[in-house]
Amino acid sequence: QDPVLAIVGRPNVGKSTLVNRILGRREAVVEDTPGVTRDRVSYAANWSGRKFTLVDTGGWEHDARGIHARVADQAEVAVGMADAVLLVVDSTVGITATDEAVVKMLRRSKKPVILIGNKVDDIVQESDAAMLWGLGLGQPWPVSAVHGRGVADMLDRVMEVL
Ligand code: GDP
Ligand code: MG
Repeated sequence: QDPVLAIVGRPNVGKSTLVNRILGRREAVVEDTPGVTRDRVSYAANWSGRKFTLVDTGGWEHDARGIHARVADQAEVAVGMADAVLLVVDSTVGITATDEAVVKMLRRSKKPVILIGNKVDDIVQESDAAMLWGLGLGQPWPVSAVHGRGVADMLDRVMEVL
C-alpha cells in the first residue's frame, strides 16, 4: 500500500489545481478510485520515483451548520486516511476562521502537516505567504499551483515526511 497524502483546506484555495499540477508534471495516470465519494477523490501519483496516493477533498456545499463545520468534517475524514497532510491556504486572502477550524482538527490528528501558501504567483507575494506562520504550523511553503512556482521544492519536503 502506497503512502497517502491528503490535501485539505477551504473551498477555492486551489487544492484541485495543485493536484493537477502534481499529477501533470509527473505525467502520472489520473485515476479516480472506485467507491470513493465525490467528496474525496484519490489519484495515483509519484515524485522522485516514489509512488503515493493523493487524496483531493472538496465538492462540498454549505450545509445547515455552515461552511466551517463542513470543511472541518471533510478534512477530518481525509486526514484519518492519510499518512501526511497538505493544508492549502490562499495567501492572497490570508488566514480565515475556516482555516483556523481546520488547523485545530489537524493538531488533534497528530499527523505530519505541510502548510502551503498558494497563489504566490510571483516573488513579491512571498511576504503574503509569510503571514501564514501565524497559524502555528511551522514554515509555510509559498507555491503557485497555476504556474508551478515552488511546487518542486514543496514536494521534496513532503517526501521527507511521507
Ligand atoms: P479548490 O476549491 O481548493 O479545489 O480550488 P480550485 O483548484 O478549484 O481553484 C480555485 C480558483 O483558484 C480557480 O479559479 C483557480 O484557477 C485559482 N487558483 C488556483 N491556484 C492558483 C494559483 O496558484 N494562483 C492563482 N492566481 N490562482 C489560483
Ligand atoms: Mg477542488
